[in-house]
Amino acid sequence: MKGKIIDGRKISKDLLNEIKEKINTLSSNQGIVPGLAVIYVGDDKASNIYVESIIKKCKKVGLYSEKYNLPKDTKEREVLSIIESLNRNKKINGIIVQFPIAEGIDENKIKWAVSEQKDVDCINPINVGRLYTNSVGFIPCTPKGVIKLIKSTGENLAGKKAVVVGRSNIVGKPVGELLLKEDLTVSICHSKTRNLEEYLLKADVVVAAAGRPNLVKGRMIKEGSIVIDVGTNVVDGKLVGDVEFEKAADKAAFITPVPGGVGPMTIAMLLENTLEACLRQCELKL
Ligand code: NDP
Repeated sequence: MKGKIIDGRKISKDLLNEIKEKINTLSSNQGIVPGLAVIYVGDDKASNIYVESIIKKCKKVGLYSEKYNLPKDTKEREVLSIIESLNRNKKINGIIVQFPIAEGIDENKIKWAVSEQKDVDCINPINVGRLYTNSVGFIPCTPKGVIKLIKSTGENLAGKKAVVVGRSNIVGKPVGELLLKEDLTVSICHSKTRNLEEYLLKADVVVAAAGRPNLVKGRMIKEGSIVIDVGTNVVDGKLVGDVEFEKAADKAAFITPVPGGVGPMTIAMLLENTLEACLRQCELKL
């Protein structure tokens, strides 16, 4: 293996320590403790594990958290009413909602309902608009983590070619936008892209976010590139990404593993955004 592993666990651990120190300073100097509320509907096992891990990390860094696990037959108006009360709750600075939510609930209504000041995963269309117009809002957690991992390589990014595989509103598109902001030249590929390999072979930076195991083959990777694997797929009970890891690692200069790459960064970014939301709401700087 030639490529250097980008260790998302280590990078996120360092970030969590920094966040913890900042929260410590904030609570000792101002008596303020940032708070995060997590809402999820239903009993999906993966969502439950993810939410528990958020709550655990909140405790670790000294962040206050509230969890709302609602039964799967919860009505839309009940979810909206919880969001409205959290929007007014002074102890809560950030709100996230797990999607997909539940049948019969209009996701768009939920997205618009989250206060734009507390929208720490950038789901409210007002904040989405801000993201694409260089205004101050929130950077969605997974894309923010992806960019931190790419920057952790220390490589000069301006002018390089990036290929993002996947065009979802929560990963592919925002990652593309953030790479543009870093002055890369970006192609966003999707399921209708003809000859994905042709794009990938020219890419200095690859971000795979398709949710298709082994879609990105080692032979499609350019020598010396940076490869970030966002994909999380369970194959034979094992968590794997979208990239054929071993073979891609022979070509890439830097590569993220799955697990241990992007995954740990997402929660770290959520806590960072919650701290940022708290500071903005209290008109403070650290
Ligand atoms: P979506 O299913 O919403 O989007 C997948 C995208 O991949 C679509 O744009 C789709 O194209 C494209 N795609 C699918 N098949 C192919 C193909 N054969 N060739 C090229 N493009 C293809 O997924 P998400 O964006 O929500 O998530 C992507 C992956 O990232 C998933 O594995 C998910 O679990 C993971 N993820 C991981 C996170 C983490 O913290 N580690 C957080 C969020 C997501 P089209 O638009 O044409 O259908």
